[in-house]
Parts: sequence; C-alpha cells; structure tokens
Amino acid sequence: MSLSRRRFLSASTAVALLAPERLRAHLATAAGHPSFPGGQAGPYALVLGIAQDAGMPQVGCYAERCERARGRASPRYAASLALVEPEAQRYYLVDVTPDVTRQLDLIEEPGFRARAGERRPFDGIFLTHAHIGHYAGLAVLGREGLGMAPTPTYCTAAMADFLRTNGPWDLMVREGRLDLRPTEPGRWHRVDDRLEARALLVPHRPEYSDTVGWMFRGPTATVLYLPDIDSWERWELDVEDVVASVDVALVDASFYSAEEVPGRDIRDIPHPLVPSSMDRLQGRVDRGARVVFTHLNNTNPALFEDSAEAAEIRRRGFEVATEGMRIPL
Ligand SMILES: [Zn+2]
Ligand SMILES: [Zn+2]
Repeated sequence: MSLSRRRFLSASTAVALLAPERLRAHLATAAGHPSFPGGQAGPYALVLGIAQDAGMPQVGCYAERCERARGRASPRYAASLALVEPEAQRYYLVDVTPDVTRQLDLIEEPGFRARAGERRPFDGIFLTHAHIGHYAGLAVLGREGLGMAPTPTYCTAAMADFLRTNGPWDLMVREGRLDLRPTEPGRWHRVDDRLEARALLVPHRPEYSDTVGWMFRGPTATVLYLPDIDSWERWELDVEDVVASVDVALVDASFYSAEEVPGRDIRDIPHPLVPSSMDRLQGRVDRGARVVFTHLNNTNPALFEDSAEAAEIRRRGFEVATEGMRIPL
C-alpha cells in the first residue's frame, strides 16, 4: 500500500469520528487536498512535526506517554512545516528543529532528494524565534552536516542579530550558508511568484529574540503558523480576527491543562490552554474556520489520537495536526 493511500485511510478513520456538520466541512476541504486522488498538484504546507521544542518522546522521560511514543509506528517530531511547490520544485522550511534529519524524510517529492544531494534543499528558511525547538536544527545544516549552500533565511531583525552574533550560528552566517533576510513584521513580502509571507509579532518569552508567527499565502489559500504564544489576551491582534482572515490556522497547543507539569509552575512557561483557545475560537470554527493545534508538550494527552482530550478537540470541530498532514496553499 502506498504511503499516500495509507494516509488517506487514516484520514478516513478520523473523518468517521467527526460530527455530520463537521464532516461536510472536512470533505469540502479534502476535495482540494493535494494527496487525495483527483486532487491538484498545487503548492501545499506539509506538517513535519507537532511536538513542543524538546520533542516526543522527551529526553529522560520514561513515563508511560513517552514510552508509548517510543513504540509508535510513525514518529513524532518537534513542530515544523515544509512549504512545497511541486510544479516549480521549490521547497521552504519553517523552523528548523533538532529532529530535522528525520523530518526531511517526510518530504516525498523526488525532486527534493536530488536538491538535497546538491546541498541546496531549500529555496528559503523561515524562523519564528530563538528557542531550541525552532532553530537549533540549523546546526546539522552547517559544515559538519549537510554543508548547505547559501539559503535565504527569513526572520525578524532581532533574530538575525542573534544568529549573526552568537556561535555556532555566526559561522554559518559568515560562510554565507544563512543568507539573512530580516523581514519587517506586519507586511506581506513576495517570496516567489506563487508564495507570499507575512510575519506577525507575538508575545512570547524574549530571552534571545522576539517571536513571530508566519502567514503564508499561496495561489488558493492562506495558512497561519503560530506555534508559540504566551497569551491571546496579551497579543495586540485579536486572534479571532486573524483566524477569520486565513483558510487554516495552525496554533499553539502546548498544554491542555494547568495540572500537566507536576513540580513546575505553569506561570513560568505560559501558553494558552487548549480548552480556553477553543472557547475563544469556537464561534469562528462553527462558522467554518479551520483551526489545527500543534506544538504539543509531551505531557499533552491530545498527542494521542485515542485520548479523551483529542476526542473533545474533534467533537468541537477543531483538529490536531499530524506528521505528514498536507494543507493546500
Ligand atoms: Zn516552542
Ligand atoms: Zn518558544
């Protein structure tokens, strides 16, 4: 059975769990899904990982949930996206995680492997911020690893400064591998003839850099990628309006409940809890918006499709992203 066929079947299983009104909306979306039979080979975002920065299983964690993740047939990786333009054979990477080596295996386009062999896998890299899960994978794209050819790297001016002034990243800048393109947040920037990108500043622990979410606009759809935010309330934008302005919103789902991380005060690692995000966005989802959760901490039970929490997310018309998921652009 081909991979795409297996994926179609697993998608069908998930569809069976949807309420009728959600099922209609899902099938309408699926009709334009590039991996479905009869779909178009247009640009798409490919989910390369859905876990919080430190991945799943997490280092040194032998709790039942991490042991279960170790035994999974299909692996979990830290949150990241690829943007794929099959006709033009263009590829972009959105955040570079410590799992990047295996994550690139999820890009099935044959042209991608040829380009990787020529050490120029990406037409561009987009970075959200300087927390380890979002850029530390750059290390293996440098001279000890892929030896990447010069690659446009889109990020904020503060993130560009961080990379330029801290080792080992500064070496990748000096060697020309990271062709830094500081990008002004709030404005649309044309990336190529089929893709535009817009960074949105978000409130998030600024130890090393500021943080952005990215909006990507392709020929048919706009996708929001917002893996980390401290709070919806502290954002200068109204998340309901932002979600209404895109076709699909991938958003921070680090924690489902405040009791998840025993021995640590959740105020030290602030993120909106999934149920409160659903309360805030329920009206939009009921009117057809597509909200997909990502960046789940290893303690978040919704990482497992058979959990009560994942079922509740589906029941309310929301989704949890999964590795290999394709979203038309
Ligand atoms: Zn993160
Ligand atoms: Zn972060």
